Amino acid sequence: MTEATGTAPRKRLLIRTWGCQMNVYDSARMADVLAPLGYAPTEAAEEADMVILNTCHIREKATEKVFSDLGRLREAKQAKGGDMVIAVAGCVAQAEGAEITARAPWVDIVLGPQSYHRLPEMVARASRAAGAVIETEFPPEDKFDHLPETTAPQGVTAFLTVQEGCDKFCSFCVVPYTRGSEYSRPAEAVIAEAKRLVALGAREITLLGQNVNAWHGEGPDGRAWTLGRLLRRLAEIPGLARLRYTTSHPRDMDDDLIAAHGDTPAIMPFLHLPVQSGSDRILKMMNRGHTADDYRRLVDRLRAARPDLALSTDIIAGHPGESDADHEATMALIRDTGFAQAFSFKYSARPGTPAATMAGQAAEEVKDSRLAEIQALLRDQQAEFNRSRGGMVVEVLVTGPGRHPGQMAGRTPWLQPVHFDGLANLAGRIVPVKILAGHPNSLSGAMAAPVNTEPRERPAA
Ligand code: SF4
Repeated sequence: MTEATGTAPRKRLLIRTWGCQMNVYDSARMADVLAPLGYAPTEAAEEADMVILNTCHIREKATEKVFSDLGRLREAKQAKGGDMVIAVAGCVAQAEGAEITARAPWVDIVLGPQSYHRLPEMVARASRAAGAVIETEFPPEDKFDHLPETTAPQGVTAFLTVQEGCDKFCSFCVVPYTRGSEYSRPAEAVIAEAKRLVALGAREITLLGQNVNAWHGEGPDGRAWTLGRLLRRLAEIPGLARLRYTTSHPRDMDDDLIAAHGDTPAIMPFLHLPVQSGSDRILKMMNRGHTADDYRRLVDRLRAARPDLALSTDIIAGHPGESDADHEATMALIRDTGFAQAFSFKYSARPGTPAATMAGQAAEEVKDSRLAEIQALLRDQQAEFNRSRGGMVVEVLVTGPGRHPGQMAGRTPWLQPVHFDGLANLAGRIVPVKILAGHPNSLSGAMAAPVNTEPRERPAA
């Protein structure tokens, strides 16, 4: 459907996003790229002129969901007389471009994560081409140099990609194949984008990268910077109150980054640090490059730098070759560390990865029962962590209205969602909230003091 706005035709764009925060960021950038062509967002497939499925290849289920979504989109496209551009983007597109066009020939565009800046040109080519337009090569030019500047506000909390790709080649992971080798955006470009996001209303920025703490580059002072230095510089931006970064690899937590957690209050005391397994044997098979005790020592050092640091992690249950003893070692590591949040999954083989062809693939019921045990423990730890905030007065960044009238929603320094009774129009403020109850996945509370007109955590300019 098109509608007139002045003389320019308006077209409707629907983007569906699966997977990680990087995909959420990429979807926003694809919308930025298409906006000059007249595409405005819609939530309804039946009125969309273009639909982009931004996909994730980490889990088999996610891939199958893409194909069932494509089946439904075929009907929507037919109902519009074929007047709909369907694009598949993201890691499934990168890894399975040929299969997509074979199984779903009504798809017009298949593009990998490195080609988003080429979308306008691909849309034009798709309107002329008989078959699908496919771009899954790693183009020679830097997509970040060709993407338009961010102009759409992301809100009070914003994502900013600083790093892409990965050279670690963990046995189970497709990222090095779908996103290519490690690449860091220049410090100047990151600082400029952070300033723009703050000007558009962001108070908290999460730096994104598949291996975000491998970020490195030349700083504006001509020196070699690593992530700790970049975070300290970003913390100086007036109005930017909070910084986070994800996802980190234990091997890339250098001394300066650990120290930054202690000396930079804007870095929030919450870190997602995947461990994957607590067994040294499995960690070796996974090619993680660290042992369980390396991880424990790293956590000790981080907590020494920032005593109120809470951790989140990723755990895989049932990697090929995993024995009962290996599983027990994972349980022990979870008990020893204590996580405030975690993502845990059953191992699922991804074609083309080393683990997919390893001997000793575990039976589904074994994986199911190990995952259930892991998740029960992690759930208890999360609930306990949330309960432990009860009675505390915490700084809450208000993100908007809550679910009920007269309620506001926000997030704590530890990334917990909070609902509290409060006045409207506090979005973007950091306010003291007394936590009255900790629930399994969130907190509830009440304003602890009259609202300040100035944000409490605003750093010095
Ligand atoms: S470090 Fe992370 S992104 Fe890289 S291969 Fe391992 S799991 Fe995948």
